[in-house]
Amino acid sequence: MSSLIGRLALVTGGGSGIGQATCRILAREGASIIVADRASKNVQKTLQSIQSDTTQNHLGLEMDVAKATSVEDALKNTLEKYAKPPSIIVNCAGITRDNFLLKLSEEDFDEVINVNLKGTFLVTKIFTNSIVQNGINNASIINIGSIVGDYGNLGQTNYSASKAGVELLTRTASKELGNLGIRVNVILPGMIRTPMIDAVPPKVQEKFKELIPMKRFGNAEEIAEVIAFLASDKSSYMNGATIKVTGGF
Ligand code: NAP
Repeated sequence: MSSLIGRLALVTGGGSGIGQATCRILAREGASIIVADRASKNVQKTLQSIQSDTTQNHLGLEMDVAKATSVEDALKNTLEKYAKPPSIIVNCAGITRDNFLLKLSEEDFDEVINVNLKGTFLVTKIFTNSIVQNGINNASIINIGSIVGDYGNLGQTNYSASKAGVELLTRTASKELGNLGIRVNVILPGMIRTPMIDAVPPKVQEKFKELIPMKRFGNAEEIAEVIAFLASDKSSYMNGATIKVTGGF
């Protein structure tokens, strides 16, 4: 029995990688999906891949999570189509701009913080206000951090700091929103085979693989299945949790 029938889910970064797999799996579980990403062609690709069941009513939105006006427009479009906000929010949009600390530009530092951390804040704040205003008292927000936000990683001061921020934003939001029936949890993926990881040099990838007890990278569906669990009432007493999905890394 599918666990998300009748639910509406927003997935940022839904045009690629983990976000795209999440759209597929939440749709499989019966949810209607708002696919949000900054490139409309990627949004359309994902929409086409989930459009098979006509009882579900999906929406594609071009949205830049780092810009409040863009997130507000996305909420407006959502309310126009569904007359309610989503009760599931997956903050999956993210970027890397890797460089060693001594060479890292201020611009690359700011961009990563703006998308990964501020973007999670803006989407959570703007959509959750609407959830509260609409009297929805069973909602789930799933943020995507990273295992490197716990341990750090060479060449990723900006990214690691942004993801550590996402983890603590999650824990704090869970304390503020729990009594409203809004659960907030964070997943820390390890190395997951997506376009983001394809950009890492093969030599570095091999080094990482050696450190993973399961001796392989994960795939996007292996994160998306955990997201689906956190979205559903099967995880109804989980709030403020950090879940590592790393193959033991
Ligand atoms: P991905 O394939 O690159 O997907 C990320 C998506 O987010 C892309 O479609 C990207 O668009 C979009 N995006 C970037 N900036 C955006 C913005 N400002 N507004 C809206 N959308 C934006 O990467 P992924 O591996 O699936 O990553 C998904 C999440 O998992 C990220 O938060 C990432 O940090 C996290 N994560 C990934 C791994 C891993 O090993 N893959 C590990 C730990 C955590 P563009 O392609 O146009 O940039």
